[in-house]
Amino acid sequence: MTSHKCDSVIITCIDFRFQPYIDEWLDKQFKAGSYDRISWAGGIKNLDDVMEQIGISHRLHCIKNAFLINHENCGAYGQAETAEKHAQDLKNAAEEIENKFPEVEVKTYYLHLDGTFEQIQALT
Ligand SMILES: [Zn+2]
Repeated sequence: MTSHKCDSVIITCIDFRFQPYIDEWLDKQFKAGSYDRISWAGGIKNLDDVMEQIGISHRLHCIKNAFLINHENCGAYGQAETAEKHAQDLKNAAEEIENKFPEVEVKTYYLHLDGTFEQIQALT
C-alpha cells in the first residue's frame, strides 16, 4: 500500500441540518481532499469511539490538525445539553487528543443553529 497523507481530521455530528453549514465552512478554509472527515452522532460526545477513529486517521494519514465541531440543539446530548456542557466536553476532548498525539494541534467549535461557528478557547 502506498503511503498517503493529509493535514487534518474534522469531527462533526451526523445531524443533517448542519451539513450545509459545515460543507461551506470546510470549503472556505481547506483545500478539497486535504482532510479526513469523521461524522459521529454527538460529535465528540462518545470520546472513546472518536479517539479510535482519530487514532486511525493519525496512523494512516499522519494528520497534524484536528477540528472538533459540536453543535447547538444536538439530539445525541438530549436533555443534558447546555452550551457549557458542549464547551467543557470540547475542552476535555482537545486535552485528551493533545496528550495522546502531542504533535496534533486541536481547534474546537460550537456550531449554532443559525450556522455561526463559535471557536471555543482551550484551557491553556
Ligand atoms: Zn448532533
